[in-house]
Amino acid sequence: MNASSLSEIAIVGAGFSGTLVAAHLLRQARTPLTIHLIDRDPQQFGRGVAYSSTLGCHLLNVPAANMSAFPDQPQHFLRWAEAREASLLDPPWVTEIGPTSFLPRRAYGDYLCWLLDEAERAAAAGVRLERWIDKARGLTLMPEGVVLELASGVRLRVAKAVLALGNFPPGNPPVADPGFYRSARYHRNPWRPGVLTALLETESCLLIGSGLTMVDWAITLNQAGYRGTIHIVSRRGLWPKPHRLGPPAACAIDPERDPPSVRVWLRAIRRHSEAGDWRAVIDALRPHNQTLWQRLPPAEQRRFLRHLRPFWDLHRHRVAPVVAERLQALAESGQVVRHVGRIRAYRESGDGVTVSLQARDGGRPSTLRVQAVVNCSGSESNYRRLESALVRDLLGRGLVRPDALALGLEAGPEGALVGADGTLSDRLFTLGPPKKGLLWETTAVPEVRVQAARLAAFLLGEADRR
Ligand SMILES: Cc1cc2nc3c(=O)[nH]c(=O)nc-3n(C[C@H](O)[C@H](O)[C@H](O)COP(=O)(O)OP(=O)(O)OC[C@H]3O[C@@H](n4cnc5c(N)ncnc54)[C@H](O)[C@@H]3O)c2cc1C
Repeated sequence: MNASSLSEIAIVGAGFSGTLVAAHLLRQARTPLTIHLIDRDPQQFGRGVAYSSTLGCHLLNVPAANMSAFPDQPQHFLRWAEAREASLLDPPWVTEIGPTSFLPRRAYGDYLCWLLDEAERAAAAGVRLERWIDKARGLTLMPEGVVLELASGVRLRVAKAVLALGNFPPGNPPVADPGFYRSARYHRNPWRPGVLTALLETESCLLIGSGLTMVDWAITLNQAGYRGTIHIVSRRGLWPKPHRLGPPAACAIDPERDPPSVRVWLRAIRRHSEAGDWRAVIDALRPHNQTLWQRLPPAEQRRFLRHLRPFWDLHRHRVAPVVAERLQALAESGQVVRHVGRIRAYRESGDGVTVSLQARDGGRPSTLRVQAVVNCSGSESNYRRLESALVRDLLGRGLVRPDALALGLEAGPEGALVGADGTLSDRLFTLGPPKKGLLWETTAVPEVRVQAARLAAFLLGEADRR
C-alpha cells in the first residue's frame, strides 16, 4: 500500500448515515482527502432505504423541525423545505410547510442529495468525492489500511472504511415448513422494486407485522387504486399510533439516580402518563434513551427486549396524523382486516396460499386465504442470519462480531468496530442501526446525525495526527 492511499477513506452505504459522514468529511477536511462513497443501488444513493421512496404518501414520521441533518443548525432542513414550498405542497399529504409539518420522505432524500452536492462543491482543494454504484463484497486488513473488494472487481486501497450498512430486509417468521418462502407469492424484502406491481395483480394480500412498514404498504396500495382486501397479522394486535402536539412533559426517569430496572422505569412512565399525554412523556425521555439503555445491566436489557420492545416501538415510533387517519379509514371501510396471532404454516395451491394462524394464549387456530404475502416485520438485526456477502466475509475473517444481544455489531463509542478477538479496530468504523446493541436508540435522524458529525471529526483528527 503506498503513502497516498493513507488520505483515502471508503464509506460503504450511501443512505442517511454514509451520505452524512461523507458530507461532513467534505465540509471539514482541510488537507487532501479522497472519499469513496459506495452504494449497490443507484436509486438509494444519497437516500438509503428510508428516503428513496418516490411516493408522496410516504411521509416522514418526525416533524420537519427535528429533521435537520446538522445538530448545530436545527433549522437547516426546515429552511431548505420552506425555500421549495411550492413543489412540496401536495394535499392531502402536505398542506403547509412549517416546523410541525410531516414532509414526504422523497423530499428528505432530495435534501440529502442536495447537501452532498453542496458539500462536494464547497470542499477545500484536493478534497474529493468519488461516487461508486457497486456492491462491496469483501474486505482485507493490510498493515497500513484496508483493501475493499467491489463486485465489479475493483479493489479500493484506503486508510479506513466506514460500514454504514443500515437496514437489512426482515427475517422470515419461523414456520415448520419454510418452503413457501421460495414462492413468487412471497415478498421478503418489502422495499424491493416491483413488489407494488406484483401486489396490484392480486385480489387479496397479507402484510406480516403492524408497524411502520405495514402502514407504508396499506397506504401505498390504497393510493395506487388497489381494490383487494389487505389482511394484516401481528402477534399482539398492536396498532400504530399518531403523533399529537401538546405541551412538553418532565422526564419521568432520572437517568443518573433512579435504579436501573425496567420495572421501576415502566412504573414511572405510567405514573407520569396519568398526569398528561403519554406522547409527551415518551418524547421527554428521548435525549436520555441512550444513557438509560447503557445503565441497564444485560439481564435488564434482555427483559426489556423480551417483554416491552413491541410496546416501546409502538409508542416511540408514531405516524403523521394524516397517515393515521387514512389507515383508520381503511380499517373502517373493511379493506384492511386485522388478525392477531402467529403464523404457523402456509399451504400454496391454485391461485393463492392458505395461511394458518395460531391465536395468542391458546385461542383457536384460524386460516385465511390470500394471493400474496409481504413481510413487513422489520429489519433483521442478527448479523449471523444476514445474507450479505460483505457481512459474511467480515464475520468469517473475524473483523466484526455481533453484539451480545444480536441487535447489531459490537462497536466502541466513536463507532470503531470490535473484532472477534475483542480488539477495537483503528480502521473499521460504523454508525447508525448497527450500533443498536450499544445505544438502542440509533436509527432515527436526530440520533444518527450526531454520530455522523462525531465520526467524521474523529476520522479527520486521526488523519491530522498522522
Ligand atoms: C422506511 C423508513 C422510514 C423512516 N422514516 C424516518 C423518519 O421519518 N424520521 C427519522 O428520523 N428516521 C426515519 N427512519 C429511520 C432512519 O432515518 C433510517 O434508519 C436511516 O436512514 C438509516 O440510514 P442508514 O444509512 O444507516 O441505512 P440505510 O438507509 O439502510 O442505507 C444503507 C445503504 O447501504 C447500502 N449497502 C448495504 N450493503 C452494501 C454493500 N455491501 N455494498 C454497497 N452498498 C451497500 C444499501 O444499498 C443502502 O442504501 C426511517 C427508516 C425506514 C426504514
